[in-house]
Amino acid sequence: MNDKGLLLVVSGPSGCGKDTIISKVLDRIGDEGFLSVSMTTRPMRGDEQNGVHYYFVTEDEFRRNVEADRMLEYAQYGKNYYGTPVGPIETLLQQGKTVILNIEVTGGKNVRRLMPEAVEVFLAPPSLQVLEQRLKGRGTETDEAVAHRLSIAKEELMHACDYDYIVINDVLEDAVEDLLAIIRASKLIKDRTIHKICEVINYAES
Ligand code: 5GP
Repeated sequence: MNDKGLLLVVSGPSGCGKDTIISKVLDRIGDEGFLSVSMTTRPMRGDEQNGVHYYFVTEDEFRRNVEADRMLEYAQYGKNYYGTPVGPIETLLQQGKTVILNIEVTGGKNVRRLMPEAVEVFLAPPSLQVLEQRLKGRGTETDEAVAHRLSIAKEELMHACDYDYIVINDVLEDAVEDLLAIIRASKLIKDRTIHKICEVINYAES
C-alpha cells in the first residue's frame, strides 16, 4: 500500500518567484511531484495555455464548479476568482504523490482548516523594492496592475506567521534547496511514518 501523499501549499506575493521555484522543485522530484492546476476567471497572459497553467473559465463556469462542490478552496484575488479543483488532488494523494498548491493566503488559510495535515510554506521576496522590480521586469502588466499587486503583497506578508515555514527568495537556488528540504523532512514527520515502527516491531516479534 502507498503511504498517503504530501499536500504542500506554497503562498507568497505575486512576483516573489513562486512559479520559478516550484517548477525547479518539480524538475528535481520528477514523477513524485505534481502541481495542482487551478481554475481562474482571469484572462490568459503571454504564452499561458489552458489546462497547463490554469483552466481559464468564465465567472458562470467558476460559480457552477463551486456550487457543485468541485473546489477544495477558492478566493478572489484582485478582480478575479481562483480555485483549486479537489478531484485530481484526492487521486494523487491516494497514490502517495507530493501535490503542490500555488495559492494566495486566503486559500492557504482555508486549506489549513480543511486539511490540517497539509504543510504550508510562505515564500517572501528579500524586500519590497526587489518585488517591485521583478513585477515590472515581467512586462506583462500595466503600472496600475503592478501597483495593485504591490499593495496586495504588503497585506499578504502579514500572513507569513500563519505558515509552517518561511523561505526568503534572495538567491533562487537556495530557495529551491530550502523547499526540497522541507518536502523531504515533511515526509518523515511521525504522523506519516509511525506505521513503519509497527512494521519494525512486528518483524522483530515474528
Ligand atoms: P496570477 O494571476 O499571478 O497567476 O495569480 C495571482 C494569485 O492567485 C497568486 O498569488 C496565486 O498563487 C494565486 N492563486 C492561483 N491559483 C489559486 C487557487 O486555486 N486558489 C487560490 N486561493 N489562489 C490561487
